[in-house]
Amino acid sequence: MKWLFSALVPLCLSALAVGQTPEPGVAAALLTELREAALDPDTCHRIRDLQFNEEDAKFYLTDGFLIFGKPVHGKRLFAVFASRESSDDAELLLRPPNPSERRSLASFTGSPNMNEHFKTAVFVFTDDTAEQLMKIVRESPLSKPHAEMGLLLATEHGGTVRNLLQSFAVRVVYDLLSGAAADRGMFYAALAGVTFGNFDLLHDPVAREQIVVGQISTKNDARGEFVIWASFESRSSRTKRVEIEEPVFAERYSIRAELGAEPELNLSVVSKISLKLKAEARGALALEIAPQMRIEEAKLNGAPVEIFRRESLRDALIRGARNDIFLVLLPAPLAAGQSVELEIKHSGDVISSAGNGVYYVAARTNWYPSRGMDFAMYDLEFRVPKHLNLVATGDLQEEVVEGEWRIVRRRTSAPVRLAGFNVGSYERASVKKGEYEVEVFANKRAEAALQPRGGGFILMPPAFQRGGLRRPSDVVAIPAPPPPDSTARLTELANEIGSALDWMAGVFGPPPLKVLTVSPIPGSFGQGFPGLLYLSTYSFLANDQRPGKQQPNQQVFYSEILHAHETAHQWWGNLLTSGTYHDEWIQEALANYSALLVLEKKKGLRALEEVLDGYLKDLTAKQEGGDTIESSGPITWGIRLYSKGEGVAWRAITYEKGSWIFHMLRRRMGDAKFLEFLGTLRKEYAYKSISTEQLRLEAAKFMPKDSTDPTLELFFDQWVYATGIPTLSVTSVYKGKAGVGQLTVTVRQTGVAEDFSVDVPLEVRVTGKPVITRWIRTSNEPVVITVPVRGLSPKVDLAPGGAVLALRK
Ligand SMILES: [Zn+2]
Repeated sequence: MKWLFSALVPLCLSALAVGQTPEPGVAAALLTELREAALDPDTCHRIRDLQFNEEDAKFYLTDGFLIFGKPVHGKRLFAVFASRESSDDAELLLRPPNPSERRSLASFTGSPNMNEHFKTAVFVFTDDTAEQLMKIVRESPLSKPHAEMGLLLATEHGGTVRNLLQSFAVRVVYDLLSGAAADRGMFYAALAGVTFGNFDLLHDPVAREQIVVGQISTKNDARGEFVIWASFESRSSRTKRVEIEEPVFAERYSIRAELGAEPELNLSVVSKISLKLKAEARGALALEIAPQMRIEEAKLNGAPVEIFRRESLRDALIRGARNDIFLVLLPAPLAAGQSVELEIKHSGDVISSAGNGVYYVAARTNWYPSRGMDFAMYDLEFRVPKHLNLVATGDLQEEVVEGEWRIVRRRTSAPVRLAGFNVGSYERASVKKGEYEVEVFANKRAEAALQPRGGGFILMPPAFQRGGLRRPSDVVAIPAPPPPDSTARLTELANEIGSALDWMAGVFGPPPLKVLTVSPIPGSFGQGFPGLLYLSTYSFLANDQRPGKQQPNQQVFYSEILHAHETAHQWWGNLLTSGTYHDEWIQEALANYSALLVLEKKKGLRALEEVLDGYLKDLTAKQEGGDTIESSGPITWGIRLYSKGEGVAWRAITYEKGSWIFHMLRRRMGDAKFLEFLGTLRKEYAYKSISTEQLRLEAAKFMPKDSTDPTLELFFDQWVYATGIPTLSVTSVYKGKAGVGQLTVTVRQTGVAEDFSVDVPLEVRVTGKPVITRWIRTSNEPVVITVPVRGLSPKVDLAPGGAVLALRK
């Protein structure tokens, strides 16, 4: 299940235990109950030495008061711990099970283990916490009922509790209606820590990593972002992992969308989703959609059904999501094996005008209701004002003009994870390469921000932003550029992308769809959907017409890398996917390195090496505080790196260190084996997700027999699961006569932690003799080796050809 959706809301609609069949309006009635929720003074106790565990989290309520909420829908959903006297105290102990998460926790809290005292805590839960905790209170001889304090606490904390409960409304309603069993319900604690201030702990059994601890911060984003301190699999999941099967999946989407008049282009849509039940579902189905989209009505197999949707702030923050989760209430349980059709009517403004007839589709991934990212077939029909062009995922079935409307029908020839569209006033160029077709659309005119005296602002999300990642965007001022031609590279791009697609299909195997449509997007980024690329309008401009002072590496980025990177996402991201945010780096790094391979094919190895050199500079650049960008955290922290340095570290580590990781693997496997490895990834993991460990095991199969690290464990431990870029130096002394002698080589490593150790190839060259290669395992002590050499004046080369991500001295 995708982390993006998973932290709080079970899109996997777990086979639900005994649940009641909801009456019409039941969700609305529940919401009213939640709004009126109150603490129950009769449950208030003065407590002492009360301890409970929530998986790995140990709570010690040493001295204070504990009060529970009045039942909602027959269930107690919250409790408050409060201290009243200065000696009152409570404590949370938490030890992440793996070194990487302990390191992460330490980087935020100063210690790898949490041992935090707190004065107040609000607990919200849909699991059996209330029953367990009430039992402990009843059985403790040190607990004394205290209804009087109960009245006071109910008044003092009622508002906070209701707010937090609202914040989880969708999840709470879902769990209540579906009768989620005790082992599927969630537990959440908002704690007022003595040293950390307010922070949150969540245990969600349906998430991939069930325990998450962190804090809401407004440092990078005024709307707040949830900074994860540590996130890991819970104790019981580690002991006995229960894969929670997703009982419902989408087989087919039929979407009819109409775009209203310019410039708003308000979108009115009827989305029909054919769902297949793998297991029984009761209570409700959860789906997600862009916040801008209003849901007007929903029908299940033609009969109207109730929709429940709330702004769930805390929930959304912890999920890091920019989409809303909503519930479709089931009038009756759905049996396993059944197919149902869900029809949802929705509308909203998801398209912005960038001026001059150029548009920007904001909700590119979630403009229609979806159920996570199931591979499904898509039938799309769009009606747009006739002078506009519309492109979308899939093969063109029909394009006709009827009256004032242009009607465009597209259909996918294979299942894809999501469907996108783009709209504008376009010029088109296309190429055919074998059985594949690339069609590229360019805006007839450049957007207002690129106009001569326009100047102004454009939206600039991080480079390479992709479907799975929705992050705050920056607004960047663009100085007035010379008049640009927004179609300057149209034909060139069609040819370039055609060649890239053709080459990649030859090496990796077939892409998901035979037609690749490429369309412009205002801004400086790209996004690769199945069958549809969004490419920065900068890529369409001639080098000298791009705004601002473009550095040579930026020119290479827009002219050579961006389109090939997005093209490579047809395979890496749209066929092979990642199961969790820890593994998302794989598809980004693969896409980027694939783009570098295309660059190498066109301009030679030196061009690729120059790009890698630039990446090395970025990664070793110092941030505020003197540490390097790369030291922010291991690449497997994924999007969590975002909270370090406003995305700079996340970008550099994911794309640039990621490219280096694949380059180093190539240098260990050899070119032919490396390409074979990429083809195998496509073959073995198409329509599946790959984890970082699975990647290691696959890569190990392509390592040479005599490798010093045949399982790649050392390689992954250092380059993938940890941080560090060493500075290496090499010295050598040759002793010998008459062309027979011995070379003593010393390799020194600095600038990394004491336990940093990697394998580095050393090449010894003597004119007229084969190259001698030795692998050296570095350490914090100098490593000395001797090499017998035949021939005079041997030359020593450490890690040539970018075999190791390192600085040189
Ligand atoms: Zn990408």
